[in-house]
Amino acid sequence: MTSETVTKMVFGSAESRLASQAVAKARMEQGLSAYKNPLERAIDKLESCRAAITAKCYECVGSEGNFREVIRTCTSNKCPLYTLRPYQNKVLSTDSVENPVNN
Ligand code: SF4
Repeated sequence: MTSETVTKMVFGSAESRLASQAVAKARMEQGLSAYKNPLERAIDKLESCRAAITAKCYECVGSEGNFREVIRTCTSNKCPLYTLRPYQNKVLSTDSVENPVNN
């Protein structure tokens, strides 16, 4: 595998990067953030459960600050989405699922 192939796999093609940069620039010119937030992404992927859950958690914690970290460290274990929330560590200890911190 060549380094060019690896670069394409990691960063996409030069054309797709340029297209992404053009979209980001256009959004910023409209006063929007450069990249879509989880709510906007969920609207783009209406049939995606993962996108819907991420959007709901984003809506729950608000968009201020580092929402990924706030969602990851959510302690509302009574919420039906608690175990499904995004941005959790890939490997969860069984203790964190069975005995989440109460709030
Ligand atoms: S899991 Fe946490 S962040 Fe997600 S919707 Fe429930 S309470 Fe909100």
